[in-house]
Amino acid sequence: MNVFSRPTPEARGLGMTSQRARDRLIDRLKATGITERRVLDVMRRLPRHLFVEEALASRAYEDTALPIGQAQTISQPWVVARMTEALIERKLPTKVLEIGTGSGYQAAVLAALVATVYTVERIEELLRNARRRFRKLGIENVRSKHDDGKLGWPEHAPFDAIIMTAAGEVIDPVLFEQLAEDGVLIAPVGPAGAQRLLRYRHDGKKWAGESLGDVSFVPLLSGLG
Ligand code: SAH
Repeated sequence: MNVFSRPTPEARGLGMTSQRARDRLIDRLKATGITERRVLDVMRRLPRHLFVEEALASRAYEDTALPIGQAQTISQPWVVARMTEALIERKLPTKVLEIGTGSGYQAAVLAALVATVYTVERIEELLRNARRRFRKLGIENVRSKHDDGKLGWPEHAPFDAIIMTAAGEVIDPVLFEQLAEDGVLIAPVGPAGAQRLLRYRHDGKKWAGESLGDVSFVPLLSGLG
């Protein structure tokens, strides 16, 4: 289906050398509370070092966010795992919208679990690099566009899940309009230094948010980068 069944020779070679490092990262994620086997299995196989610049590849399996250029970061593995776990907890979504492609790592994790991932990135160079990574890894079920993703991607709605990987002060109500009725939206919300990871689900009357803990994400910005 993708990287995991048909890796390119390049991806295969690099994957081999870093398997031990990935195994250690997975042990750490387990020790720090990640329990969803499907998420751990995907992250055990996905070569995160291909999603960072070569100079940082040796740090790719540390549980830390790393710079990816343009003042942006690839999210910390624990955060990616927690968000993905929270997204698939009740039922595995079919169609997921991600706002903030960045390196493409979170999209690649999701692509191994769901049928189609739609992802939007406002900085063209980052999106170009992410698309190159998807191609290299044989990931074919990610559709991406260069745009301000604040208002979602209405042409492809409804989504079973929406995941935001940049923090806004509020969530625009149009995003809820693009969610399936039994859908889930996960987003970091709040100003720098006081963000919480929120999960919204419909309770029959309204979209209700629950906090999954404190987080630190880059800000959701307007317009194109
Ligand atoms: N999911 C990414 C995390 C990247 S950091 C990963 O796995 O690497 C968040 C990204 O959101 C940045 O690349 C930033 O440019 C992007 N972003 C911020 N505001 C945005 C907006 N309004 N629309 C689309 N992307 C946005």
